[in-house]
Amino acid sequence: MTGLLVVVSGPSGAGKSTVLKTVMEKRSDMFFSVSATTRSPRPEEVEGKDYFFMGFEAFHKLRLEGRFLEWTQYAGHCYGTLYDPVMKRLNNGETVVLDIETNGATQVMERYPAAVSIFLTPPSEAEAERRLRSRGTESEETICNRLEVTRGCFRYIDRYQYIVINEIIEETAKTLEAILTAERARTGRNPGLFADFRKQRID
Ligand code: 5GP
Repeated sequence: MTGLLVVVSGPSGAGKSTVLKTVMEKRSDMFFSVSATTRSPRPEEVEGKDYFFMGFEAFHKLRLEGRFLEWTQYAGHCYGTLYDPVMKRLNNGETVVLDIETNGATQVMERYPAAVSIFLTPPSEAEAERRLRSRGTESEETICNRLEVTRGCFRYIDRYQYIVINEIIEETAKTLEAILTAERARTGRNPGLFADFRKQRID
């Protein structure tokens, strides 16, 4: 059985990384896709765990080689999902989670209609701003820029199959797990299941 490709988008301050971390801690068959980016690392970020940090030249070399499943420019930087690690895990039957913005998510939905798409949102714009500021890692200019992008990305909510409001992290993580459990149980995702039994009944 092929695995589940899960696309999670949401504005800065939605709490995506915290929620995803909470969900992934409980499951060993879930793989978080580490993206490539030209943005500089934040103090707490680790190369190869949070992102593959690289210069514009290296990024565009990968792009020209067709190594990205999707890529985009966001807030002045390039971000891209590497094709090979994602496909390897999916072929292994694992769940692969992409934390990507709306443009990249749209590319993935078009290429892989079987992908599960989830839009994660903070309860309000004020809360998004509060969370962004509480990181304490970004300049005022970056925060304003990100808030502007935040407002813009709500325009794309209708493209997603699920919308989840992140108020309490543990509750949101449970909702995400419930979505993934239900998606895995879809008849269409389990074509070979009970094949022999079905055949006998029909015959
Ligand atoms: P940040 O700089 O805060 O880590 O991420 C900024 C935005 O880029 C977030 O919305 C995040 O989901 C998105 N992002 C991270 N990696 C990728 C990627 O590989 N592709 C796309 N399209 N967006 C990404």
